[in-house]
Amino acid sequence: MEIHSTVKGLRESLKKYKLKNQTIGFVPTMGYLHEGHFNLMEESKKRNDITVVSIFVNPLQFNDIKDFEKYPKNEEGDIESLTKLGIDILFLPSSEEIYGQVGEAKIEMKIPALMKNLCAPSRIGHFEGVIHIVSKLFNYVQPDKVYFGLKDYQQFLIIKELIHNLSFPIEIIGVETVREKSGLAMSSRNSRLTKEESEDATLVYRSMKMAEKNSGKKNITIPTLKEIIKEILLSSNMIKIDYIEILDPDTLENKEFVSGKILIAIAVFLGNVRLIDNIRFEV
Ligand code: AMP
Repeated sequence: MEIHSTVKGLRESLKKYKLKNQTIGFVPTMGYLHEGHFNLMEESKKRNDITVVSIFVNPLQFNDIKDFEKYPKNEEGDIESLTKLGIDILFLPSSEEIYGQVGEAKIEMKIPALMKNLCAPSRIGHFEGVIHIVSKLFNYVQPDKVYFGLKDYQQFLIIKELIHNLSFPIEIIGVETVREKSGLAMSSRNSRLTKEESEDATLVYRSMKMAEKNSGKKNITIPTLKEIIKEILLSSNMIKIDYIEILDPDTLENKEFVSGKILIAIAVFLGNVRLIDNIRFEV
């Protein structure tokens, strides 16, 4: 596996593949890799000639400096896993490499229609930071296909719209959430949970599945489904609810009735670790 820490080195290396018209799949990550990330990479490997992975913990997308400082890192382990997986190129830049030349004059882009609810109001500046770094990475790598996890569903819709709005010649593929046997969605942040907290964190998925199970009942309402979820989550005294939302998965608008396509999305705090998860289904 080639490892590049500079944009120049990465671009030079990619030239040889582009000259041969080879297709490039790209998986951006923040490292501390797990099965969820590997699944995206496997998808990319299946459908592209080469796969590029980036590891960059983007300071711009952290609204909470403590969360940024405590973000888990495992550079050596990640490189070993990526090598075993047969990834062609790893882009591993420093913050200086990415933001050094820009200073304070940063472009800020928003997609207001998709940034009204869910994580946007709880994490001010987060998606602006995501849009900024993803645009830069797309510019560096110029991939044919990019792979994003549906665990971060709002992020997936925002990047899809970014590609559409700015006409990036890129296809985006959303990959389903990989879970522990317990149902807990895999996340790098899970490593910061205590054993007791990880046990209670499984209530997030269980509560959404319970709401799904009840969604077929006659005359069931959105507030009732939210109550079902809330009750299950609050059976743990360690869980603090950030939001429970039931929305249209295409537009992120509120659902009036329990019918058609449904997105249930939850954010909770366990201690100072914030976890998100969602499911989508049709009634
Ligand atoms: P992160 O390193 O958390 O920024 O995630 C990098 C990519 O992996 C994003 O597209 C995430 O949505 C995706 N991802 C993270 N966790 C999972 C998971 N459990 N299942 C599927 N994709 C995931």
